[in-house]
Amino acid sequence: MKVSIIGTGYVGLVTGACLAEKGHDVTCVDIDPNRVSALNRAESPIFEAGLDDLLRAHVGRSLQATTDLAHAVMATDITLIAVGTPFDGREIDLTAVLRASRQIGAALKAKDGYHVVVVKSTVVPGTTDRHVLPALEEASGKRAGVDFGVAMNPEFLSEGEAVNDFLFPDRLILGGIDERSIDALERLYEPFKEVPRLRTNTRTAEMTKYASNALLATLISFSNELANLGAAIGEIDTIEVMRGVHLSQYFRGRNKEGLPAITAFLAAGCGFGGSCLTKDVSALIAHGEAAGNPMPLLRSVIRVNQEQPRRTVGLLRKHWPSLADLKVAVLGLSFKPGTNDVRESPAFPIMRELVDEGAVVTAYDPVALHEARTLFPEPKVRYCETLEEAINGADAVIVVTPWQEFSGLPARLNGEQRRVVFVDGRRTFDKGSVPVYEGVGL
Ligand code: NAD
Repeated sequence: MKVSIIGTGYVGLVTGACLAEKGHDVTCVDIDPNRVSALNRAESPIFEAGLDDLLRAHVGRSLQATTDLAHAVMATDITLIAVGTPFDGREIDLTAVLRASRQIGAALKAKDGYHVVVVKSTVVPGTTDRHVLPALEEASGKRAGVDFGVAMNPEFLSEGEAVNDFLFPDRLILGGIDERSIDALERLYEPFKEVPRLRTNTRTAEMTKYASNALLATLISFSNELANLGAAIGEIDTIEVMRGVHLSQYFRGRNKEGLPAITAFLAAGCGFGGSCLTKDVSALIAHGEAAGNPMPLLRSVIRVNQEQPRRTVGLLRKHWPSLADLKVAVLGLSFKPGTNDVRESPAFPIMRELVDEGAVVTAYDPVALHEARTLFPEPKVRYCETLEEAINGADAVIVVTPWQEFSGLPARLNGEQRRVVFVDGRRTFDKGSVPVYEGVGL
């Protein structure tokens, strides 16, 4: 493919050199003329292992640099925006991205044929479709999705390993406003056939980059919060603690898809329950505070979890402003499938919220009915002996715990004359399997 890349910093230059190495014809663009002339002499303005070799191999052949953005856009099929997006303390500074977008748009005005513009810079979710796309349309006088495509392809390389990271990526996130835009990214990454990829929309692509970094940052702060507590208590070496944690099957084992078992915990839903997680996290917070060591991260963990049941019920308000007299079936009352343990199950705060809002609640669980009734003896909840009895006449169904018995629910709801809102509290059902699907984090 003929590719232009705007910005020749760590991301733009490494991307350009590596795409040339993979057989594409690449034009790098920068506003800095010194950078451009250095590049055209195959001299790298940045130090990255392996980059000099790539420049020597490809500059003057399939890799060139210019300050003429319009010419680069005219001569290529796809343009990657890889300019800086610094955080100014309040928000990310989109000046360079928007300036580049307007310049690309102005070039597209005079260009015949379909072109795809890809945001590679790290931008907060919504930036590509709310800012970049309108800037391109305004400057070009053309329509995104018709005359040109728009895509978002976040970069995960890390400085010092950038060339290796780019040539051997762990994943490719291909976001686009339509299939045609994503297909253009597929062609760009054709030489990376074996690399696992996610085809998605631009906002999800943008969010995936932030989610990845936020998770890593959270894990580091988590370890440091425990390290501070360990030091306050004394005679605890947190490095050893973490070694003990690393030995867990969640870090060493793999699931059926070959992914690390810990990924099961990286899912959204109505919140965690069970006898251990809430109790142990709360005990550690209390112990830390007693030792003069506040535990702000773990406090937030509990606070977020307390909020999830309310948010789950909130999904019904998208359909009914008031839940008064609404018939809602709550299914799965144990904290997870395969047990009758109902301690700390999110089913109870969900039912509490529904009852307080005036909803008419039925509840069912294949094995934990007795335990649920005992722990939550709310007269306004009708505990049912069968699934059929619980869902009969329901306006909405909330699956809290996805027992195997519930797998036939979508087929059952599809047969209903009435429109039943299906809330998937664990995101285990297919979004398209029921007429009206709602799920946390959708
Ligand atoms: P950088 O500051 O090193 O480089 C940006 C380049 O863009 C500069 O050379 C600048 O002169 C040029 N530029 C700015 N406006 C231009 C325009 N209108 N036309 C042409 N050139 C222009 O930035 P970077 O570190 O490569 O980061 C780029 C983006 O990638 C950022 O959003 C960053 O967050 C993201 N990212 C960076 C890394 C990293 O490790 N550096 C990793 C992943 C993602």
